[in-house]
Amino acid sequence: MSILIVGTVAFDAIETPFGKTDKIVGGAATYISLSSSFFTKNLNLVSVVGEDFPESSIKMLQNHNVDIQGLQIKKGEKTFFWSGKYHNDMNTRDTLETQLNVLETFDPIVPEQHKECDFLMLGNLVPSVQKKVLDQMKKRPKLVVLDTMNFWMDNFLGDLLESLKEVDVLTINDEEARQLSGEYSLVKAAKKILSMGPKYLIIKKGEHGALLFNNKEVFFAPALPLEDVFDPTGAGDSFAGGFIGYLEKTNDISFENMKRAVIHGSAMASFCVEKFGTQKLEDLSNEDVETRLKQFIDLVQFDISLV
Ligand code: AMP
Repeated sequence: MSILIVGTVAFDAIETPFGKTDKIVGGAATYISLSSSFFTKNLNLVSVVGEDFPESSIKMLQNHNVDIQGLQIKKGEKTFFWSGKYHNDMNTRDTLETQLNVLETFDPIVPEQHKECDFLMLGNLVPSVQKKVLDQMKKRPKLVVLDTMNFWMDNFLGDLLESLKEVDVLTINDEEARQLSGEYSLVKAAKKILSMGPKYLIIKKGEHGALLFNNKEVFFAPALPLEDVFDPTGAGDSFAGGFIGYLEKTNDISFENMKRAVIHGSAMASFCVEKFGTQKLEDLSNEDVETRLKQFIDLVQFDISLV
């Protein structure tokens, strides 16, 4: 079993009510890789950076068992850059700037030995690039998960709708679900989105948890109430990494197991937000993850007798 991850590897500049960073390393694929590395050792990355990207950050990914053969390093070009500012509620943010840089001409090449990965994580990226990766797979992966955001809905909706026809699980936040479906009710939005192709939909609601839908059922997982949230950047990607990492580890893609995967995703997201950037995920131990999963179990378990 193994996971192929595609998505941005980036520089971010983040502003929250608690502080501001200069350019730090981020990107959807970075967070996904770090998060899933706590559940599996078989991680393969397809992405692109410029020559300004630090060697030490590539080493950091390798130290988390990420195979970087599919990471292109473009001489004389600049890494994708994103900057964002969070509102006081820390749940919503504005994108201040998106510089595509190397992404503008990115032609992903999946290394031969990774074309038969069973789990494919199409992290946030140009929708046509996500599709190109899927098209290079030798056999249909057992599970294809796609994450995207409003930026791509605004600019490349047609391409995104094409990709959606081919994925199993779509993960987006509540605002994006409303934008994609044109429905305010998340239940109605889910119905509409499930008719666009995905068999499962996960709607992330920040500090209000996450919903997992299929055509018949719905499951809700809360977010862990945290004393301090410093930086929500990457929470959605850390969620996706924990989700797919757990499914790969257990090799079970039933709805019942996806519920457990949602809890694992929520646990990883809860770590991510406790420090700026990737810091917390980089420093985490397996024991920390186990302890937090137990906190989740305690948070949601209760006895009730129906009379
Ligand atoms: P999240 O907070 O989970 O939505 O993801 C934040 C990460 O997404 C940051 O590290 C950014 O580098 C990356 N990002 C921001 N905008 C985009 C975009 N349009 N496409 C891909 N990745 C992006």
